[in-house]
Amino acid sequence: MDDANTAAPCKQAPCRQEPCRQEPCRQAPEPRHYTIACSYCGRQYYDDGLILDCSADHEPALLRTQYDDGGFHPLTDRPGIFRYQRWLPVTGAQQDSGRTVVYRSHGLAGLLRLPNLWIAFNGFWPERGATLETATFKELEASTVLGRMPGADLILTVASSGNTGAAFAWACSQRQQSCVIVIPEKGLRRFNFRDSLHPCVNLVVIDDGDYPDAMEIASAVCRQPAFLAEGGVKNVGRRDGLATVLLSAFDEMKRLPSYYFQAVGSGTGAIAILEAAKRVRDATGDIAGPLMALPKLMLCQNLPFTPIFDAWRLGKRDPTGSIENFRHAVKQVYADELTNWLPPYATRGGVYDSLKESRGDVLVAGNAAARQAADLFHELEGIDIEPAAGVAVACLQDAIARRRVDREATILLNITGGGRGRMALERALVPAEPKLRLSRRLRTEEAVQQVTALCGAP
Ligand SMILES: [Zn+2]
Repeated sequence: MDDANTAAPCKQAPCRQEPCRQEPCRQAPEPRHYTIACSYCGRQYYDDGLILDCSADHEPALLRTQYDDGGFHPLTDRPGIFRYQRWLPVTGAQQDSGRTVVYRSHGLAGLLRLPNLWIAFNGFWPERGATLETATFKELEASTVLGRMPGADLILTVASSGNTGAAFAWACSQRQQSCVIVIPEKGLRRFNFRDSLHPCVNLVVIDDGDYPDAMEIASAVCRQPAFLAEGGVKNVGRRDGLATVLLSAFDEMKRLPSYYFQAVGSGTGAIAILEAAKRVRDATGDIAGPLMALPKLMLCQNLPFTPIFDAWRLGKRDPTGSIENFRHAVKQVYADELTNWLPPYATRGGVYDSLKESRGDVLVAGNAAARQAADLFHELEGIDIEPAAGVAVACLQDAIARRRVDREATILLNITGGGRGRMALERALVPAEPKLRLSRRLRTEEAVQQVTALCGAP
């Protein structure tokens, strides 16, 4: 292994040089139970807990973890996500937190006549052991990203449509990690917690903005020395955290699913599922076995906001569309948590490559179908689910009706969020108050100044 990670821009304030020339930044990172490799050129790195990009000169490509333990060895004494700590890029003792609950469906499976339908439930459903405090699978990534970070005194910066921001706000509050969470105003309704947030959490709302507006401001804020970009799909912590959905499924099912249904905005979760499936397959040594074939990714979007569906249908590597059209479509969808018009589609190892490799497909559902599907799931399975999960259920129904999926196949349906209503019944939730409200028409540099002042950063 070379010392290539010293060529990445240093994130230690106030250094940030490329390559880093300051102590202690030049010191080798603490040894970890994994290394990082570029999915395009194979260049390897020690993980300093922060690296997001390969430093070689080539097109954008995702970094991936390579764990010393090549076997699937859950820590059986841990009930939560850190049951899979050997395959998570985290260091030290981690306080456990919730994980995906996987069970075989009877209600929905009976109606759709799917004898091998499994549910991967992410949310709050105590009777089933589901205890995610913010009711979506975004909590899996927040726990892992924070567990990966070194003890750097930087302000973690996250852009979100709502659910990711809520997960990070809660996780940062619990760990007292300083952070800035930037969200569009309509995402604020997801910021209800069982306790007040710690003052280290700085919630910034864009009153008339959409998710990409939050991304733009967060990106500009991160260019300031005191702030650290969470990194989204580029953060191996985020993807390996989401990958535990598949690890929980394999733990329960003892095989890989043939089809995997999930609603997508960015598609980060779907990329992570395929990465995890390959890791599990390789661990079993049963690469050609019928139970270990890679699952077909069946990605689901909510009409009329469908950039991934449109690009896939047209066979294009890049989603295209005018921002004005996207903004118009965002206002019309039921599942606004899926409204990312800058998904990592063309990136090497991203959504397009994952769809191709898995021989998957992209499906769509309208608002009425998604609402009905969410109600149907509640009636048949016994728990309320998020709009995005309703989209996935509707797309599954449609795929079955159109015979795009073999009824006998083993299907894993990711319910990416649920139980928010169930939680509200038994807990007095505390709504979070934004510390700063911005207009998307504000000049970016003014927005950055206001956020920097809010955080007391130099
Ligand atoms: Zn590379």
